[in-house]
Order: sequence, then C-alpha cells, then structure tokens
Amino acid sequence: MLTQQDISHLRADFPILTQKVHGSQLVYFDNAATTQKPEIVVNTIVNHYFNANANIHRGVHFLSQKATEAHEQAREAVTDFIGAKNSKEIIFTRGTTEAINLVATSFGEKFCTKGDEIIISVMEHHSNIVPWQLLAERKRLKINIIPISEKGELDYNYFKNILNEKTKIVAITHVSNVLGTINNVKKIVEIAHENNIPVLLDGAQAIPHICLNINEIDADFYVFSAHKIYGPTGIGILYGKDKFLEQMPPYQGGGEMISKVTFEKTTYADLPFKFEAGTPDFIGSTAFAAALKYVQSIGIKQIAQYENELLKYATEKILEIPQIKIYGNSAEKSAALSFNVGNIHHYDIGVLLDQQGVAVRTGHHCAQPLMDFYKIAGTVRASFAFYNTFEEIDIFITALKKAVKMLS
Ligand code: PMP
Repeated sequence: MLTQQDISHLRADFPILTQKVHGSQLVYFDNAATTQKPEIVVNTIVNHYFNANANIHRGVHFLSQKATEAHEQAREAVTDFIGAKNSKEIIFTRGTTEAINLVATSFGEKFCTKGDEIIISVMEHHSNIVPWQLLAERKRLKINIIPISEKGELDYNYFKNILNEKTKIVAITHVSNVLGTINNVKKIVEIAHENNIPVLLDGAQAIPHICLNINEIDADFYVFSAHKIYGPTGIGILYGKDKFLEQMPPYQGGGEMISKVTFEKTTYADLPFKFEAGTPDFIGSTAFAAALKYVQSIGIKQIAQYENELLKYATEKILEIPQIKIYGNSAEKSAALSFNVGNIHHYDIGVLLDQQGVAVRTGHHCAQPLMDFYKIAGTVRASFAFYNTFEEIDIFITALKKAVKMLS
C-alpha cells in the first residue's frame, strides 16, 4: 500500500494543495467534482503551446505533424489505459456529458423507434438521464428506471424482469457520484447481453478509482471525463464497440469528419474521425495522456487500496457524530462519503467547513431523482483522492464537529 511518505512525495506534485483558505490549510475533499492537476499535466499544456502548437491532421508542415502525432499517441494512451482492442473505438469528446449525448442522439437515431424502451437507474447523474429524456421525447420512447435499496444498491432482479424485446439500450453508472456505490457492471452487461441489448456505462466516477479492463466488462459504450482523473477540463472519452459506431450516423457535421463533400452528397470519414467534427482539443488530449501515464506510474490498484483505507477511516470517525446519516452503504463502495447531520441544512455545514479551509460539495449533486428517493434536498459530500491524508480527515472531522455544534 502507498505509505504516508509516498503520499507526501506525491502531494508535492500538486502545488495547489499547499494553499491556505480563510487562514487555514486547504483540505480538498471535492475530488468527485474535479481532481487537482499534477505539475506534469500543467507543464504538458504549457510545453505543447510553446513548442508544438499547430492544427492537426491537415498540415504538411513539421509542427502540424508533430501535433498530430502527439494527439494520436494520446488516443493510444487512452486505448491502453482502458484495455481497449483498437484505438478507432476511442472518440475524443468534450467530456462524459457530451459522450452520452452523442450516443443518445446517434444510437437513438439509428436503432430506436416509437414504443421502444431504455433502461437507466435511480442513482444516475443528470448527464445520464436528460439526454435519454430528450431522445424519448423526440422518438416517443419509454424510460424504465431500476430502483435501489436504502443502502444504495441496484435491484438486479427488477432489472432482469424489465428487460424485454422493446428494450434498445441500458445506460447505468459504474460508480455513483453521490453514494459511492460500485455497481456490478459485469453482471449488468451479462444480463443485458443475454437479451442482445447493448450497455452504456457512465465511468465518470469509476475511472480515477477502478482498474478498468473494458474487454473484461464487455460494455458496448463506456464514457468518462479527463478532469476527474487529474487531466485537463473540456476533454473526455467515448469508447464504443465498432460494430455499433460503424452503423451510427455522425453526431455533428463539420471539418475532420468527412471523406468527401459535394453539394449533392457528402460521405463521412472512417472511425474515429466520423464522430470528431471540428478542431479537436489536441492540447488537452496530450495533457490527458500525461495524466493517465502519471496515474499508471503510481498504480490504479495502489490508489484504490489507499483511498479505501481513507474512506474506511473517515466513515468510522464520522459515525462518532450524533445524528449522522450516511447515504450509500453498499458492500462495494468507492471514495465518496455523502451525509447529513440531523435537520441541519447541508449548505450551512458546507459554508462552515469552508470557513475552516475544508472544501466539500453540498446540494443535489446533479442527481435530483436520487435525492427524491431519499426524500432529502441534498447532502454534504466529502470525496477523496490519493493525495488526501488521514490527518486531513482528522481536520475535517474536527471542523465538522465544530460546525454541527454551532448549528445545533
Ligand atoms: N456522470 C457522473 C457519475 C458524474 O459524476 C459526472 C460529473 N459530476 C458526470 C456524469 C458529468 O461529467 P462532466 O461534467 O465531466 O461531463
């Protein structure tokens, strides 16, 4: 396991963590919203702009070729990171949200007709709800929702029973951004595939914590954002099996995604470019690759193991607080701790923690249907990354106790 000495060395890669907030040492526990960036990622952006900036793919000149090579190498790095077979199945998007919108629009256009059904779950982020609602409205489809237990685990039997010949796709989160629940995605995919139904997995919260092998899971689509795994904002990934991507129409039209354009008829580029209209974020992709290499150099399994210890410690400590209620008590859980204390408003706790230097997220976490399920307006969420420490958890618990005392 990563030692405290390893962690203090790694923390030195994140200059932002040394900041003081309202006079106190920053404790950054909002990693599920976005992670901080190591120096190597920021330096890659700066170096790329200074030394290799030129638009990619179309240029004959040196700089353009250099930038193209770096961008395509980044695609290979992503392919390698998730264990995909072929880099043509890796599409660069603006992030998880755009990737889901791409699939909902393009897959929906090709494969869904009036009366068909889509399956999602109660614990989805709005990004994995609203694109399907837009599609359902356009095509008059039905959305079926898998319920969860009070602990925050999916009802797999219910899921089995609602699958039918009208079901066209299942779209489920790998890890809940509120509950931390790690869903049994292998089981979901197996059940869906027994019925010949493809599965999209929202990997936004899984990618920084779980060692992913996309072939093993066998998901048909897998989406995530770079900024959740120490990479830059504004770039993300859609992994899709080529058997689907080949059949799906383009999502956006423009440069890069065409083979030949005439006013009579336009033909489209091969994968992955068919889905990458316009100038891509070729600086971001390179920095993203640097982030993935950085994570690989630490080891995602080591990261997960250490974060689990942080979560265990934080859970034990927080349970000492009277009237604490934790949302998300699944057997398999990732590094997010959502809670409320008695009737105290989550926002008030967030503000008082901030005043003591502790950054947490409060509110509905873009999961309002999940809040409705628990009959609450929101929670406080502390979420951890490998650069967090046990000492920071102690600071957080002390600050939380103080906030609760002031608000009771
Ligand atoms: N799904 C989940 C589970 C998330 O946690 C998030 C980010 N909060 C998203 C989707 C959306 O990601 P992005 O905003 O990077 O597109």
